[in-house]
Amino acid sequence: MTKLTRGLLIGRMQPVHNGHIQIIKKTLESVDEIIIGVGSAQLSHTTKDPFTAGERIMMLNQSLVDEGIDNGKFYIIPMEDINMNAIWVAHVKSLTPPFTKVYSGNPLVQRLFYEEGYDVYAPPLFSREELSGTEVRNRMINDGDWKSLVPKATAKIIDEIDGIERIKHLSIKEISEI
Ligand code: NAD
Repeated sequence: MTKLTRGLLIGRMQPVHNGHIQIIKKTLESVDEIIIGVGSAQLSHTTKDPFTAGERIMMLNQSLVDEGIDNGKFYIIPMEDINMNAIWVAHVKSLTPPFTKVYSGNPLVQRLFYEEGYDVYAPPLFSREELSGTEVRNRMINDGDWKSLVPKATAKIIDEIDGIERIKHLSIKEISEI
């Protein structure tokens, strides 16, 4: 029996944007299955991390299904941070199906998996000036066009959970606390 190749991609996905979907699709061209780790799963309700892990899982799942990606090809797994980088890879491994390849643009993630012997790939970034969580969140706070940067299904979920009201409210509160 041939072994399936599995790749891991971890991101905070705050929120899911078109860059994440493009890289997931691209990665699926070189592996049989992809494990998508929703990082910093314990964080929510701040301007940097506004959405809960459950909300981010919904965004990913519905956006990937909308793209026509077979849901037997991806696993979405929430991953809380731990405060010891040296054992983080073991923590991630304990939560996931077995995998051999890791895809990340994040130097810390790349380094930690490289040191544990994984094949690490740095995939190209698409339109990074626009397609970044920071840019999407800034546009949300400042009434900019954030919807064009995220999949339609993600925009719908953000509307459903009153995500814009949430992030705007949090940003006002943080400013008044200074
Ligand atoms: P992110 O959401 O910014 O990006 C995730 C990945 O998506 C990137 O690595 C990149 O490959 C891809 N991507 C992003 N924008 C793209 C674009 N425009 N085009 C193509 N691809 C794009 O998330 P991140 O910051 O890399 O997430 C890493 C997670 O791992 C965080 O939650 C972090 O806390 C966690 N982590 C935890 C520990 C620990 O707990 N000790 C250690 C290391 C990392």
